[in-house]
Amino acid sequence: MRQNQNISTLQAVVTKKTSGSYEVKSDQGTLPCTSKSNGKPEEIIVVGDRVTIGQTTAGWVILQREPRTNWLSRRSAVPMPTARAHEQIFVANVDQLVTVFAAANPAPKWNMLDRYLVAAEAQDVPVLICLTKIDLASTPDGRLNAENQAAVERYRKIGYPVLLTSTFTGFGMEEFRQALKGKLSVLVGKSGVGKSSLLNALEPGLGLRAKAVSALTGKGRHTTSHMEMFDLAAGGSLVDTPGVREFGLWDVDPDDLGYCFPEMRDLIGRCRFGLDCSHNEEPGCVIRKAVTAGQISPERYQSYLTLKDETT
Ligand code: GDP
Ligand code: ZN
Repeated sequence: MRQNQNISTLQAVVTKKTSGSYEVKSDQGTLPCTSKSNGKPEEIIVVGDRVTIGQTTAGWVILQREPRTNWLSRRSAVPMPTARAHEQIFVANVDQLVTVFAAANPAPKWNMLDRYLVAAEAQDVPVLICLTKIDLASTPDGRLNAENQAAVERYRKIGYPVLLTSTFTGFGMEEFRQALKGKLSVLVGKSGVGKSSLLNALEPGLGLRAKAVSALTGKGRHTTSHMEMFDLAAGGSLVDTPGVREFGLWDVDPDDLGYCFPEMRDLIGRCRFGLDCSHNEEPGCVIRKAVTAGQISPERYQSYLTLKDETT
């Protein structure tokens, strides 16, 4: 503990946020905390923030936040007076984003994965793609069915790690455990894809603890901003994202969108119209040429066009 203007201060990491109060982890253990933030976006504290806290007569207060290495944001669930969805950062200093999709039941939505990938690329957050319930999408000889296999190869070719798991057979679970070790991972995936089952298979009870957060986060428009980080027995921690239906792409300028597609990066600027090319109808577009040549997949190119429309 250090003395700072006659108050004792500590370095800590924010592990839990409920409306108006926090929990932080320091070398003195877990401490309840409040913040003096008056609601200005730059003063908002989120889970994962590294902070300095000080002990006052009213308890521990967050005095300062360190610069973030990265962050993830979502559309605010709270309607804004301007009726415009606004950026809400919900986690900071993330080591990896783990996107969970089911190989079947429900069928994977690859365009939604592309959306997560772009949000992560824009913030330099590494991604681990997890395809679970693979027991439901296997051929009689035990291989992944053709449609899933094609998608898996598509993403691996770009360089994204894809992990195949089944909580029913245990397939891939040891790899999943290793992949989370020692890192702050943020899990995303729609309800029903098998996230709780994955967490329970990882550590008994973990899925239930995450579900409890989910119940607090609630449904509907007046979602609270409850977020919580769980320690993993093997080291590392995990943030589940219940209620995060959609990632915001505020950090992505439409002109920079191509850089968020790793397979396009090297081609940007080489079109006949250089950086002015929208890679849509223009003659001499090297991106479209790469799609025709099979170097960029048509599915990813379609996602690019869709997201471009949205960010413009
Ligand atoms: P969550 O809403 O994402 O947390 O999903 P759950 O973990 O609750 O799982 C949703 C449904 O999928 C449940 O009926 C599970 O039994 C089932 N499920 C989860 N994992 C697997 C799996 O690996 N294989 C199969 N066949 N079913 C699974
Ligand atoms: Zn082009």
